[in-house]
Amino acid sequence: MLVDIKNITCSYKNHIALTDVSLSADAGEIIVCIGPNGAGKSTLIRAIAATIPLQNGHIHVDNHEISQLAASQRAQLIAVVPQTVIMPAGFTVREVVAMARYAFHPWYQHHTGHDDQIISYAMAQAGVAHFADTPANQLSGGEQQRVAFARAIAQQPKVLLLDETTAHLDLHHQHAIINCIKALAQCGVLVIAAMHDINLAASFATRVCVLQKGHLLADGAPATVLNQSFLEQVYQTPLKVVPQADHPTPLFLLQH
Ligand code: ADP
Ligand code: MG
Repeated sequence: MLVDIKNITCSYKNHIALTDVSLSADAGEIIVCIGPNGAGKSTLIRAIAATIPLQNGHIHVDNHEISQLAASQRAQLIAVVPQTVIMPAGFTVREVVAMARYAFHPWYQHHTGHDDQIISYAMAQAGVAHFADTPANQLSGGEQQRVAFARAIAQQPKVLLLDETTAHLDLHHQHAIINCIKALAQCGVLVIAAMHDINLAASFATRVCVLQKGHLLADGAPATVLNQSFLEQVYQTPLKVVPQADHPTPLFLLQH
């Protein structure tokens, strides 16, 4: 297993945000994590990225206990696009994306032509190449999210963690990023994404995990996990279900 999460519990001060969560995932999977606000989705992403400590349990990525890895080793394995993207002031888009390559070189070594190719490819995939020379913090929220996505791809990680990365994107760019995620997964990248849009999740996930109040309630194929009564119970909301002839899961809409 590329990622092996065993019985983790995470807290913020006295508040337990994840309780006894276990999850294993292999290269090439696309796991979408859904659940109400405050369910623990971002906390799970932070735990895998090792940006918050575990109170209990273990996380192994590529057979390494992540808390034991140096930051640069971790960056070569795991890239994360956080829910709130803050672009550093004073850097162009190209410079921000280029930061992804720092983990691969000692501090005194400059980028190579190979790095430049990876940086240009990542900017093109995320649709930010035409902003390459623009200061990154002058872009819109959705544009900055795409820059953060480009930076994550340029890290060439084995595990890509996305926290609501499509939330601020228009339909064209949602489509482009989803296609890019599918292509990365086909090349063996494990993608774990938190998102709110159940219908978008069902359109590209190979597996769906449902979190509620810090507990992992379900983990399985979209067509198995995404059923009306379960989702209505999780979200405490009546849903309308519209079957799709060309897709194994129906569309879930709010009832008017
Ligand atoms: P989700 O991403 O599913 O909306 P989070 O993982 O962000 O949920 O949050 C899970 C719980 O942890 C929530 O109850 C939230 O209030 C709490 N929480 C999240 N971040 C912090 C923080 N930095 N400090 C204190 N509590 C937090
Ligand atoms: Mg969140």
